Amino acid sequence: MVKYTEVMIRYGELSTKGKNRKDFIGRLAGNVTRVLNDFPEIEIHPRHDRMHIVLNDAPFEEIDKRLKKVFGIQTYSPAIKVPKTLEDIEKTSLELMQATFKDGMTFKVNTKRSDHQFEYDTNQINNMVGDYLFDRMDNLKAEMKHPDLVLRIEVRQDAVYISNQLLHGIGGMPVGTAGKAVMMLSGGIDSPVASYLAMKRGVEIEMVHFFSPPYTTEKALAKAKELTGILANFCGKINFIAVPFAEIQETIKEKIPEGYLMTVQRRFMLQLADRIREQRGGLAIFNGESVGQVASQTLESMVAINDVTTTPVIRPVATMDKTEIIERAEEIGTFDLSIQPFEDCCTIFAPPRPKTKPKLDKAREYEDRLDAEGLIERAMAGINITPIYPNQTFLDDKAQEDADLL
Ligand code: ATP
Ligand code: MG
Repeated sequence: MVKYTEVMIRYGELSTKGKNRKDFIGRLAGNVTRVLNDFPEIEIHPRHDRMHIVLNDAPFEEIDKRLKKVFGIQTYSPAIKVPKTLEDIEKTSLELMQATFKDGMTFKVNTKRSDHQFEYDTNQINNMVGDYLFDRMDNLKAEMKHPDLVLRIEVRQDAVYISNQLLHGIGGMPVGTAGKAVMMLSGGIDSPVASYLAMKRGVEIEMVHFFSPPYTTEKALAKAKELTGILANFCGKINFIAVPFAEIQETIKEKIPEGYLMTVQRRFMLQLADRIREQRGGLAIFNGESVGQVASQTLESMVAINDVTTTPVIRPVATMDKTEIIERAEEIGTFDLSIQPFEDCCTIFAPPRPKTKPKLDKAREYEDRLDAEGLIERAMAGINITPIYPNQTFLDDKAQEDADLL
């Protein structure tokens, strides 16, 4: 197997200059450092035009898996650093070609040179290395326009860097560059996908999760935390804020007409999310609503619920079909956990026939019957914040077995 010594990272959507560019690069370097922090031997050099990682014997295969999940990386190439002699360039070029070449593939050598004192120019290097490879490999075919393989040789001041692969990152913006927000995370399929999409645009999220003991179990809470652990792969760490919701639900159930149970519950959720956002210095609220998916997500419902705040409420999956959301959930690795059947606080007190077109004035009127401020303050007093790291688990084997039996 080829032993790469470095990785060259090319930046994503870096249209901006000056301070924003600095912030982009600084955040990306911080995020890359965080996801690779269990490899202390690695050196990370963020530069203006790209980032250079020196592996120092760390295995590229594992680093590759982590880099694939870092937002802000457009493409990256593993490379081998060699001394500036023709012999070393040829030897390593052959090794890299033999590792990736399959019969019938076309190739091209592409040399760049920033050291103009080097004894050969780019054309000479292309030709010499090409000839060297033709002499030693069978069935090799050159192709200038659309080759299957490109062998990239970069002659720099300090050394020559050779790479044979251009890998695609997930693009987006480095998490943190767009500021902070709270994300309303349930245990379902949609909100984890919405979380991923928020982070993709550079938003640093903190999860707000409502749970209702004794109506919901520890496992439902553990499931939401474990989903957060999967999503933490995309940023290194996510704070999880658990909010007790049982008293609010019991009170609503007792005092509000059935058709408006759901609308008023959702108004409380949004008010609480907004309080937490303010406390945490966030700028917006994200959720996993999709237009028309269920009664609480019709435009009429959104009007009646969104009424409680002027904070931007961003719904990344608003226009996606369920099938599209599921596809995304499978890609990011949350789907299998999302479909585990643990009760959620919303399903417990779900009315059989919630209004699909609630009236705003009625929602306000009913809510006024309650001591909203007292309920909100008591819920706020009971919140619990935990930092969650990549792939941290919270559901033990027993919980999994029980879920399988349901
Ligand atoms: P998801 O939408 O994540 O698949 P779901 O379909 O069970 O879960 P809905 O009832 O559709 O959830 O709720 C819509 C949105 O409201 C969720 O995407 C989420 O943002 C928010 N939400 C619902 N339940 C909770 C909860 N227990 N804690 C935090 N947010 C919640
Ligand atoms: Mg949903």
